[in-house]
Amino acid sequence: MTQVVVVGGGYGGARVASLLDDVAEVTLIEPKDAFVHASAALRGAVDPAWEERVFVPYDRLLTRGTVVHQRVERALPDRVQLGDGTTIDADYLVLATGTAYPFPAKFLESETVVARARLARMREGLAAAERVLVVGAGPVGLELVGELREHFPALRITVVDQAEDALSTGEYAPELRTAVHEQLDGVDFVFGSRLGYLPPVDVGVYEPFAVETESGARIEAQMWFRCYGNQAASDYLAGALAAERTGLGQVRVEPTLQVRGLPTVFAVGDITDVPESKRASAARTHADVVAANLRALIAGQRPTATHHPEPERIVLPLGTRGGASQIVDADGERRILGAEETSRIKGQDLFSSDIAELFGQF
Ligand SMILES: Cc1cc2nc3c(=O)[nH]c(=O)nc-3n(C[C@H](O)[C@H](O)[C@H](O)COP(=O)(O)OP(=O)(O)OC[C@H]3O[C@@H](n4cnc5c(N)ncnc54)[C@H](O)[C@@H]3O)c2cc1C
Repeated sequence: MTQVVVVGGGYGGARVASLLDDVAEVTLIEPKDAFVHASAALRGAVDPAWEERVFVPYDRLLTRGTVVHQRVERALPDRVQLGDGTTIDADYLVLATGTAYPFPAKFLESETVVARARLARMREGLAAAERVLVVGAGPVGLELVGELREHFPALRITVVDQAEDALSTGEYAPELRTAVHEQLDGVDFVFGSRLGYLPPVDVGVYEPFAVETESGARIEAQMWFRCYGNQAASDYLAGALAAERTGLGQVRVEPTLQVRGLPTVFAVGDITDVPESKRASAARTHADVVAANLRALIAGQRPTATHHPEPERIVLPLGTRGGASQIVDADGERRILGAEETSRIKGQDLFSSDIAELFGQF
């Protein structure tokens, strides 16, 4: 039977593996002992009741295939080498290692019990803190602020960003920013100047500190969060695969999501150089394209499914009931949605029902 090796069990990798489980011998390689549902991670960070929906076991994802909890240290087009020294051969390889992001949005820890202990310590610190500093007023920073306000209402929050306003990196309408500022009334935003230096303590740890922006504003707080710096996880690519890495560490792909010049290797999700914003929804769409192409190849046909970048959109919850969104409707028109619709689309469930279904947790 055809051997398909999927490297990385995030949104893209887990879905590819599940979609091919009936036609191939699938090996999914993922160091973490549970899938991390990043879209719900910031709620799970402040509310322990949500942790169950953030850390989802892999045990019911595949029926025939295998999940191997190892890190791939070195990947070549036809084989991968794991942290324990084992080599696994692949007829087809799918790269799905995504991006790393600072705690508590994503985790370096492979063991759920360790990640959860770190979250518990952070929450104890938050309960004792008077003020926290959030560095970065992009979607993750703002979403974190929304969660902190809902669960720690007495907490005072300062948000610093070098840009002149929030959400500076996307093509967003001014009404979106206005809606965000109206709902985050009481948060101290410091725009237009970088921090002169980062706080000398780890993120999410209670420890009083003071920092200054380059323009001289002094900020004192007891905890801080770094909400910028999505980093492509592709340092393990070797040989012909390494040659297809861009300067940002992403992997060059064709519209079929085959890695350029390597017809038996595919890539999905944040690791690809597809010119679109990096989203779990895009990773899922990529997975559908790759699964269709691999099914065709396994059946001896040509891979014809292609991916076309999705229009820019954002669904930004601010706690369970707040938020704002910018979507593109069926006519191609841009629309701004308020708190109620944003809460209905994402804020209440944070897509956790979809994830529970994929991972067979119902
Ligand atoms: C706080 C937050 C909220 C978000 N909310 C949304 C949202 O609401 N909607 C949305 O569409 N997107 C959202 N995103 C973006 C979304 O999380 C990413 O786009 C998504 O995680 C990309 O999926 P992926 O499969 O490419 O990679 P990832 O989900 O990053 O998964 C990659 C996996 O690969 C593993 N891995 C890494 N290196 C190796 C290796 N060497 N060997 C083996 N395995 C490895 C990792 O452990 C990880 O499990 C959010 C992101 C954050 C941080």
